[in-house]
Order: sequence, then C-alpha cells, then structure tokens
Amino acid sequence: MKALVLHGRNDLRYESDFPDPSPTAGEVLLRMTYSSICQTDIEIWKRGGIGGGEWSQPRIQGHEAAGIVAGLGKGVTTLKVGDRVAVENVRTCGLCFFCRRGQSQLCEHGRNFGFTDHGGLAELAVWPASLCIKLPDSISNEEAPLAEPTSVAVHAVTNSGVQVGDTAAVIGCGVVGLVTLQVLQAAGARVVAIDPRPDSRALATRLGAMAALDPVKDEPSKLLPDLTNGFGPDVVIETAGATGTALNAAQWVRRGGKAVIVGFAAEPQELSFSRAFMGEKVVMGSSGTGIGGYQKAVNLIASGKVVVKPLISAVVPLERGIPDGFERMLRPTKDVFRILVGNGGR
Ligand SMILES: [Zn+2]
Ligand SMILES: [Zn+2]
Repeated sequence: MKALVLHGRNDLRYESDFPDPSPTAGEVLLRMTYSSICQTDIEIWKRGGIGGGEWSQPRIQGHEAAGIVAGLGKGVTTLKVGDRVAVENVRTCGLCFFCRRGQSQLCEHGRNFGFTDHGGLAELAVWPASLCIKLPDSISNEEAPLAEPTSVAVHAVTNSGVQVGDTAAVIGCGVVGLVTLQVLQAAGARVVAIDPRPDSRALATRLGAMAALDPVKDEPSKLLPDLTNGFGPDVVIETAGATGTALNAAQWVRRGGKAVIVGFAAEPQELSFSRAFMGEKVVMGSSGTGIGGYQKAVNLIASGKVVVKPLISAVVPLERGIPDGFERMLRPTKDVFRILVGNGGR
C-alpha cells in the first residue's frame, strides 16, 4: 500500500509498497480517508519520534484520522464493512491504577495510533473496533479527522468546570483554541479569544467570540475585566503553548476562577504562588481526552455546535503529503490551520 513512513530524524518517505496490515481479533481494517497533520506531527518528523528519543522501527504517522471499515477481525460485531469512522487515537490499557480510577487519559501503558503504532497516513490501517467512532451522515470525511483536536477541547472544557452563563477566555487561536472557543460556547459561556495573529482573531470573531484581543497591543490584563464582570474571566483555557502563556492564563483568570493549561511550553515558567493562592485560583493541566470525550467531539461536530470546515486549509493526496503537507507546515509564513492528507478512501 501507499504510506508516508518515518524512518528517523528528518527522514519521512513516501512509499508505494509498504506491507498491507491485517486486523487481529477485535480490530478492524480501515481504508483511510484523510488524516490531518498538526504541529506534533512536524515535531515527530524533525525528531524522528516522540517521547524518549527516536523510534527504532519505521512507522506511519497520522494521529488525527478517519477511515472506512474494509475488513473485520475475529469477534467484531459492532461495526460492518462500509461504516465510516473516526479513529479514537489513544488505546488505554484498562488495567493500570489510572484506568481503574476512570482517569484513562493518564494511562501508564497507553498506545497511540500514529505514535506507538502505525497511524493514518496510509491507504490502510488497523485499530480496535472499540476505538472506531461511527460517523453520522452529517460529518464529511474531510471534517472527521478534526474530531481529534475537538476531543482535546472537550476534555479541557470539562476540566474547566465552566457553567452556563460564565465568561471565559481562550489563549491561542490555532485549531485547538478555535474548537475550544466553540466547545465553551456550546457549554453556555461567552468567550474572549486572544491571539497575536490577525487571521486567527478574525476567524475567532466569525466563530462567535465576543471579542478577539491581540495580546501584544491590547493589554488583556486591563481589557479582560471590562469585558467580563469586572474581575476577569471565570475560566481561562490556554492552548498556545508559547513561553509565558500559561502564566498569562493564571494571571488573567479572576480570583476564585480556574485556568486550564493545554499547550506545552518546554521552558520552565515562574508563577507567583502567593498571588494565585491568595486569590484561590486553580491552575490545572489538561492532557488528551477522557472517557467519552471522542464521542462527544463527534456529536458536537455532527450537530454543528463545533464548526471545523474553516480550519481545513488544504486537502492533498498521500503522494503529495510531504511537499504540500509537511513541508508547507514548516514555512516561516505558516498560513495554515490543518492540512488534510489522504485519498478520500479511494
Ligand atoms: Zn495533533
Ligand atoms: Zn491504563
């Protein structure tokens, strides 16, 4: 089959004769439609792996993926050939301390489609039927891979404890930020979006943000209290992962409010605990998605509460995935949200 295979640092190759996979018990064979590539894929490509150095074996990337069921492993009864599905990309063990406590996003032995296992940037893939979420007709093949970042947003919003009528701010209006904005709105909050990029702010406004601020020019620390209730947002969700943005989240949230950190910044950042604690602020991390998060993401896209079409910047075939997908994401004038790579299941 055709596939984009990572052989090591900076060594991603298009191959036309990669061995076809076959499903084991409980798995399905998927004919992949599209996978969207994100910054994590770019980092994996540059580093030759993720989490603990370079991968030892060539591996197919693509963790934001969708496909059509093309074959059933032994014992699969919940799906049939021809079903369209989104791939829930984390395969938790179900047995560890965290899984048994219902915190499977912290699983000690999690496997990932496109990280530890072959992913979706290929004609075919295999994955457990239990992690293939059936798509309703109202979600197109192009929209389906965006269920992955939406599931991350669902988890962050759930972690925030936001309530109907609350005010919220989202720091960073990339794909995760723009879907987080919409999930917060679906949960009943009014949202201020914050991003230095004019195009991202314009899209945030189009998607319903009550205001879109430039963190450099607009001084959110002064403007946010005016835009909310005099004290700052009830909830701030940080999705930018830039130096200082997690601190901004902790600073800008109102006293007694909650800051949820989704983006990863490698550099250590200093927080004044006395100020945060005196104000009874809660600062928490949010990682991946929790139990049921993926299905909720699919439901939100299906119902139109989360709109993902404007986040698809280009659709390119597998054959062109490296020059028109990965390499385009590297350009300094990165003018893209997500690029879909795939042949639409044909
Ligand atoms: Zn991703
Ligand atoms: Zn586990």
